[in-house]
Amino acid sequence: MKVMLHEMNRAEAKEYFTKNDIAILPVGSNEQHGPQNPLGTDHLIVKAIAEETAKRTGVVCLQVVPFGVSSHHKQFWGTIYISPRTFQNYVKEICLALSYYGVRKIVIVNGHGGNLPALMQMARELRDKGIFVSIFQWWSAASKFLPDLFKPEEKGHAAAEETSVNLALHLHIVDMDKAVDEEPRRHTAQAEGITLPLDTVDYTSSGVFGKSTTASAEKGKKVLEIVVSDLVKHVNLLKETKIENLTQKPKVW
Ligand SMILES: [Zn+2]
Repeated sequence: MKVMLHEMNRAEAKEYFTKNDIAILPVGSNEQHGPQNPLGTDHLIVKAIAEETAKRTGVVCLQVVPFGVSSHHKQFWGTIYISPRTFQNYVKEICLALSYYGVRKIVIVNGHGGNLPALMQMARELRDKGIFVSIFQWWSAASKFLPDLFKPEEKGHAAAEETSVNLALHLHIVDMDKAVDEEPRRHTAQAEGITLPLDTVDYTSSGVFGKSTTASAEKGKKVLEIVVSDLVKHVNLLKETKIENLTQKPKVW
């Protein structure tokens, strides 16, 4: 059975959408990930996680949205950044197109933390319209199930955790000879309770937040296996949950 929407023909899509009200949508970004990782890190990782989850659950998976909210990486060459509003509207219209064919539950597999505020606002707006969107982020699942696999300094942007997952998925596009370790700088205006509109370049010259040289494909495989099995559980749960139990509650009297 095909699970990738773009590989189906229209009769197969009709067959799926008349029997199922759930779909998986991976979204990521195209931004610098230190000297060793490909720019596509965030979307390539979620593409792999989402496709494997689709195979294991039989839930249709859409093509990955490769560009996201990453203007904070723009000083590093090759970052293609989209405004939060444009990103939000684009993803929202994908969800609305799915709803035209009867999809009411959408699992977004998000590969880039910077996309989250826009996705959350969109998910609330879609719940208003009777469409339930959940958002899965693999690094949160990895921290929950494998809390000691990486030290805190190995979990930052482009650090060992993310690099390890890249090594497990596509070794040939990671250049470990260039991997570096860099402790993020503290901005003079940084303080408890203060949020600043800083860019990655304000914190790090290499684009790596923390330690990346300790990455390994073995660790990456462990992460992928655990996060996919966690996502499979979530997708199966949503699949069996009636939409009536996910939509907004009525007014309280
Ligand atoms: Zn990333």
